[in-house]
Amino acid sequence: MATNTTTDWSDPVACPFCGAELTSPGAGFVDHIDDNADCEDGFEHWRANIAGDLAGEWTG
Ligand SMILES: [Zn+2]
Repeated sequence: MATNTTTDWSDPVACPFCGAELTSPGAGFVDHIDDNADCEDGFEHWRANIAGDLAGEWTG
């Protein structure tokens, strides 16, 4: 597991969770987390935090 807990999207062509290079900034990341459960889990937590901050309507 990565020890980097500061999710920093300064490099949009690399996965912020494992550092893997993505094929493209947007869709490439979706494909990436589709293939990497650990990264998907990290993304879900990240998204949940954002949703909590904004009191948004993220579901799933
Ligand atoms: Zn990753």
